[in-house]
Amino acid sequence: MDCDLCGKQAIMIARIEGAQLTVCASCGKHGTLVKQLPVQTKTLRTTSQLQAAAAAKSAVVKEELIETVRKDVGKLLRTHREKLGLNQEQFAAKLQIRASTYHHYESGATVPDIAAARKLEQVLKVPLVVHVKVSSPVGAARDEQRSMTLGDFVRR
Ligand SMILES: [Zn+2]
Repeated sequence: MDCDLCGKQAIMIARIEGAQLTVCASCGKHGTLVKQLPVQTKTLRTTSQLQAAAAAKSAVVKEELIETVRKDVGKLLRTHREKLGLNQEQFAAKLQIRASTYHHYESGATVPDIAAARKLEQVLKVPLVVHVKVSSPVGAARDEQRSMTLGDFVRR
């Protein structure tokens, strides 16, 4: 049932300026309560349960945006270097990093950290630092994770 005055959900019958109206809580404040309307308990409960469930769900999994360096950075470096016709030492010099460090990057032995990747980005003109969404389980989900079998981990 809708409020006679504003159309929101009516919760009571109130006397307002002489007239008996079916009104919502805020409109009811302007008059005198005649009768509380029977609240549609079932519907309300279901809705609040849904809301509670939704709230619980969002509380359980916390999504975060983290910065990470692209895993294919070595390949990108190599492609770029070859395009320039430079050897690893020459390209390392251009990047202002040690040749051994560069070698590790290109071979994939090490992945540059965020700061290093930011510098490489400027030379490569390719974004190397990417944002990924990670879900970190908190509360109940953590318990769930704790009870995961080894098989679950392997499948991941
Ligand atoms: Zn109203």
